[in-house]
Amino acid sequence: MWYNNILETVGNTPLVKLNKIAKDIPATVLAKIETTNPGNSIKDRMALKMIEDAEKSGKLKPGGTIIEGTSGNTGMGLAIAAVIKGYKCIFTSTDKQSKEKFDALRAFGAEVIVCPTNVEPEDPRSYYSVSSRLEREVPNSWKPNQYDNLSNSQAHYEQTGPEIWAQTEGKITHLIAGVGTGGTISGTARYLKEQNPNIKVLGIDTYGSVFKKYKETGEFDKNEIYPYITEGIGEDFLPQNVDFSLIDHFEKVTDMDAALMTREIARKEAIFAGNSTGSAVAGLLQMKDMFKEGDVVVIIFPDHGTRYLGKMYNDDWLRDRGFIKEEKLTARHILSRKESQEI
Ligand code: PMP
Repeated sequence: MWYNNILETVGNTPLVKLNKIAKDIPATVLAKIETTNPGNSIKDRMALKMIEDAEKSGKLKPGGTIIEGTSGNTGMGLAIAAVIKGYKCIFTSTDKQSKEKFDALRAFGAEVIVCPTNVEPEDPRSYYSVSSRLEREVPNSWKPNQYDNLSNSQAHYEQTGPEIWAQTEGKITHLIAGVGTGGTISGTARYLKEQNPNIKVLGIDTYGSVFKKYKETGEFDKNEIYPYITEGIGEDFLPQNVDFSLIDHFEKVTDMDAALMTREIARKEAIFAGNSTGSAVAGLLQMKDMFKEGDVVVIIFPDHGTRYLGKMYNDDWLRDRGFIKEEKLTARHILSRKESQEI
């Protein structure tokens, strides 16, 4: 049995029990590992769905150019689908993102334009503005707009939700997911709550993002907005794909806790995951009093560690930010000490 092309391998990702990192949580904690998608992230699902819906509605025409502001994972999903379906891709992103992410997009023939991070979304230099301008000026182009395009959450309503429901045999009691565009959490939650309205949905947010305060007060507070390191989650505006009525609680996680937890996951569970996975697991541990014996908690692991090798997985990067202090005595240090004694 074979697949006709790589796009047919999107979805049907494994659900894996966490045995060590969540040992203080009385519930069963299951990770939905999205790195087995061809672009190594959950965003392959919505990228393909946005393209298929745009083809059906006539917004994306044969030989067209896809233009999007993306932090990498959506771009990867779009770039993979574009290769198979014969489209060109131009992506705008911010200088905060890992260089590895841009190189990966370029590997699929996409053009990547890197824009400054610390400017307002309305600023003409922002990655939102640059992609909108290119859409106006490049002929036969289409901008998916992952933030407000509801095909994004629909992909998770049609796939991620039903997969989790079937894999847990309907036993899931809590869903935990990082919130960026909001597509993952909103689409998955809508399906799961239709099956069982008692399922609790917990969103992971970052310090520097507006979501938690907006959920709790209904106020869009600009004072909540400041630069942060965590990639893929948190926003400085309210995307259409975030359905606040489906999210019961937001938990904020610091950059440091997210970075250190990302490494812990590799060391304790042998799962090589990205930065937002660290946020989600750190958030899970912060919320541990919410869970009891018999609960089944599903936590989304959105992307792969390779894209963060120069960051959370690099001791110098962590030390430069004050996230680790101690100089560990490693085999390399022991060898160099011995060598100097011999000399
Ligand atoms: N984690 C990573 C690494 C991501 O790239 C994204 C997408 N921005 C998310 C989490 C959040 O997913 P969503 O956009 O569906 O809310």
